[in-house]
Amino acid sequence: MIQQPGDENPEKFSYSSLTKSLTEQRSCHMTYTSPEVHNVLRDGFERSPMFNGRIKSVGPRYCPSIEDKINRFADKERHQIFVEPEGWNTVEVYVNGFSTSLPEDIQFKALRSVTGFEHVKFFRPGYAIEYDYFPPTQLKHSLETKLIEGLYFAGQINGTTGYEEAASQGLMAGINASLKVQEDDPFILRRDQAYIGVLIDDLITKGTEEPYRMFTSRAEYRTLLRQDNADLRLTPLSHAIGLAKEDRLKRMEEKEYKSNQFIEFFKDTSVKPDEANPVLANKGSALMKQSDKMFKIFSRPSITINDMKKFSSVSKYIQDLKLDREVIEQTEIQVKYSGYINKEKNNADKLNRLEDIKIPSNFNFDKINSMSLEAREKLKNIQPTTVSQASRISGVSPNDISVLLVYMGR
Ligand SMILES: Cc1cc2nc3c(=O)[nH]c(=O)nc-3n(C[C@H](O)[C@H](O)[C@H](O)COP(=O)(O)OP(=O)(O)OC[C@H]3O[C@@H](n4cnc5c(N)ncnc54)[C@H](O)[C@@H]3O)c2cc1C
Repeated sequence: MIQQPGDENPEKFSYSSLTKSLTEQRSCHMTYTSPEVHNVLRDGFERSPMFNGRIKSVGPRYCPSIEDKINRFADKERHQIFVEPEGWNTVEVYVNGFSTSLPEDIQFKALRSVTGFEHVKFFRPGYAIEYDYFPPTQLKHSLETKLIEGLYFAGQINGTTGYEEAASQGLMAGINASLKVQEDDPFILRRDQAYIGVLIDDLITKGTEEPYRMFTSRAEYRTLLRQDNADLRLTPLSHAIGLAKEDRLKRMEEKEYKSNQFIEFFKDTSVKPDEANPVLANKGSALMKQSDKMFKIFSRPSITINDMKKFSSVSKYIQDLKLDREVIEQTEIQVKYSGYINKEKNNADKLNRLEDIKIPSNFNFDKINSMSLEAREKLKNIQPTTVSQASRISGVSPNDISVLLVYMGR
């Protein structure tokens, strides 16, 4: 098998210094199936409930079983398997990429024909799961059901699959149930504020026909929804509803302030050609003829913070203000991607103006004759609360939205 070491600098979820980054990791390993393995597996197809018609539901598109893969991608001679250790004090491994519900004897025989697994032992066989769900279009943005006041749904019951998908909905449903009891407004994250916003809006606006996964590609504002700025995006909101404590907010505000100041420093400070050119030449970047602002140099594609640190004023600034890794990283990202970030912010602002146009809860869409019948049907069914949400419903065209806006006097 091929060794797959972990990240060199493992990141962590929390920004709090209470949790520490991993210092020691175990490697994963990679191996592949082969035509021989596929033949063994095929022997079990007719005994598999997924293939002989006893189970009718569709499998998850994004983590298909090994039998699904050899069926759907019949031209592929091999499939990747990641062998993941289950812990420090066990010999057990998780065979990622080999999920299966074929008969146990077939599973074992097939596994033993995989390179590296010739002598493998088996703790328990793989299995398939089947589950039902409630169409999530029956929910409000708060995850409260439209039909029963005070009842909230979160997780797989809404048609999603995944740990983070379930956990994030659970968090939101919990927050909103609590706010409801306190007679406060619901807490709703927008699509340009958080992946949670995208997830919930997708579910309740579009529904889902198959297990829903929160892919980054589903978000239109990926440049804004970065992991490096999750704290900047969400801590103030969390603090406002009484979740994040004061010290957490302070820490975030300090990071924001320091990185904004550092960005200003790059905008205000110039560098002369004789100091800059050796650094630029080293990176194959065009040389300078006259002094220029550091911000412009830092914006060049090949120039990183490590190059910038070679300028004495930059390294002095970092030392004098004792800037930590997080502040420096935030500054670097904001400088290097400022063009893209600003463009996306403008787009989001434009769309948020539609978000501000609320549709009354008992709005009669049938009255709008000039709107397509399909759009009226969908709007009646989903009952969007804003024009922006209405525009995201499949089957509702930009033209329908213009008609709706005219009708609402906009
Ligand atoms: C084998 C397997 C591997 C997976 N691997 C991954 C993975 O690698 N990564 C990933 O992100 N996701 C994975 N998933 C998916 C993920 O585990 C689920 O989508 C997620 O855990 C669902 O969480 P949930 O809280 O919505 O539901 P659940 O975790 O199913 O929780 C529902 C709970 O409700 C309880 N319950 C049910 N009926 C009642 C009742 N009448 N009264 C009281 N309690 C009741 C159940 O006992 C259960 O505890 C995997 C799932 C399986 C089965």
